[in-house]
Amino acid sequence: MLPFSKLSFWERSIYTDGIDFTIIGAGIVGMSTALHLRKAHPKAKIILVERGYLPTGASTKNAGFACFGSPTELKDDLAKMDEHSVWETVAMRLHGLRELFSLVNAAKVQYEACGSWDIIREDEETLSPDFLDYLNEKLLEITSEKLVFTEDHAKVIESGFSGVKTTYFNRLEGAIHTGKLIEELHRSCTNEGIHFLFGVNVLSFESHDSGVDIQTSMGLLETAKLLVCTNAFAREYLSDIQPARAQVLITKPISNLSVNGTFHMESGYYYFRNVGNRILFGGGRNEDFSGETTTEFDTTTIIQEKLRHYLHELILPHSPVEIDYSWSGIMAIGSEKKPIIQKTNKNVAFGVRMGGMGVAIGASVGKKLSNLFS
Ligand SMILES: Cc1cc2nc3c(=O)[nH]c(=O)nc-3n(C[C@H](O)[C@H](O)[C@H](O)COP(=O)(O)OP(=O)(O)OC[C@H]3O[C@@H](n4cnc5c(N)ncnc54)[C@H](O)[C@@H]3O)c2cc1C
Repeated sequence: MLPFSKLSFWERSIYTDGIDFTIIGAGIVGMSTALHLRKAHPKAKIILVERGYLPTGASTKNAGFACFGSPTELKDDLAKMDEHSVWETVAMRLHGLRELFSLVNAAKVQYEACGSWDIIREDEETLSPDFLDYLNEKLLEITSEKLVFTEDHAKVIESGFSGVKTTYFNRLEGAIHTGKLIEELHRSCTNEGIHFLFGVNVLSFESHDSGVDIQTSMGLLETAKLLVCTNAFAREYLSDIQPARAQVLITKPISNLSVNGTFHMESGYYYFRNVGNRILFGGGRNEDFSGETTTEFDTTTIIQEKLRHYLHELILPHSPVEIDYSWSGIMAIGSEKKPIIQKTNKNVAFGVRMGGMGVAIGASVGKKLSNLFS
């Protein structure tokens, strides 16, 4: 690959000379940040630097849930985090979904307002009616929507699940086509004259009075401002970030599939949905927290076996089903679920640590991050 020092006059004039804003990372957050920067700075030169030939973190790997919190996950969060922070993060996710659909056309990313169901297995405790009332009151405060969560036992029968006691329906969640979301964000960025440098790995950067020098695998890039959107891969710069791998599998097409919608289980540690007549099923990080604290894009027997077990025993106990293939992606977590949106000096800012709900929160983070340089 040709280093920047060997680029032509034409290439330099478009891609590397006089950069106003450089963004590292072409995931949901990086591209949302670029689009928000464009709104505020119509004439600025904005460059997105991405080390993969495709975005290579979580944004093209995820399950495509447009989600903000299942009842059992919220219960778990409320037990571990302070109440204000839990609801502030939920509000940010809901706001992020609105923000996302201001950047991309919902129909083009195949958004389906299908709702979601949180599954309670027969060996688990149901939620108290008081807790459900509390969740609904909080959602009413945030969204002005009444009765967001309701118990839905009929879904267990309709879907043909086995070993499931009941489900809780969340009528405000939905699903997108993850690939189409990234494609649309990319198309919007290029339409807005935002340029991408794929295959360029940022090695280090140093801020000085008038800008930032970025050392990359292709040589030096000089920029006025730098926005780091590398999520889990920002852990070398910020302390409270841990990588969290998530594994998923997808089945081959299933005839007469009775499972329709998006589903969560075990406080959000498992999640599945139909994609046409296939099932996409992911999670299981709670089976091996230490093994999944990694940036390696592998799958493991322990988690894939657990996914297969639930797939055959709980989700599709009556249908013969074959797994087509599996993959993994890398999320970022920390001591709290709130993202980090922070300026580290007058020229450099970070928008990282999206947790497991970056589809929802990502665009809102992009907006807040871009506002740090308004
Ligand atoms: C399997 C899986 C399922 C998920 N399911 C859902 C879901 O259903 N709903 C939901 O809301 N969220 C889900 N998530 C989480 C969600 O995908 C993430 O929160 C979100 O994509 C994070 O976006 P991001 O832009 O911050 O990071 P990323 O998408 O990880 O983007 C960071 C980018 O930075 C690039 N990069 C890193 N270091 C460098 C460097 N040195 N130089 C240049 N480039 C660099 C990487 O290649 C990467 O493309 C899931 C995640 C996974 C892995």
